[in-house]
Amino acid sequence: MLTMTKSELLGLIADFRSLPWEIGDAMVELERDLGARAFAVFQETGLSDAQLYDLIRMAHMWAPAERNIDLSWSYYRDAGADKEVARRLLEATHRNGWSREQLRKALRAIRRHEQDDHAGDGKIKDRQCNECGRSGWSWKPKASS
Ligand SMILES: [Zn+2]
Repeated sequence: MLTMTKSELLGLIADFRSLPWEIGDAMVELERDLGARAFAVFQETGLSDAQLYDLIRMAHMWAPAERNIDLSWSYYRDAGADKEVARRLLEATHRNGWSREQLRKALRAIRRHEQDDHAGDGKIKDRQCNECGRSGWSWKPKASS
């Protein structure tokens, strides 16, 4: 008789995938309750500063209802800190089945485009960018509707 079924395994993996979000949410909650004293607790976890930073940053950046693209936490982390850009990247990643390396590559291309073409040197002044469809110098995406 099997001691581990496929559905149990899949359940464990689902738990594994939600854990970084749950840890980050717990950190946000502790931060809310303890204020600056929460950081002493975080450091006792033994996680690196970079890990702690990522866990809490992601929990702050993406509310639970917004974690709705079927990709793991690591993809969200790698999609960067600009939420509108990150969402577009995550949607493209999901749609195209990209790896995290492909997602990071696309993010680098977006940042290059931002620096080269939207940096205020006049290239895209007063017109719509052919590449990304945005107007003017500012990279900030136009509000949808
Ligand atoms: Zn553009």
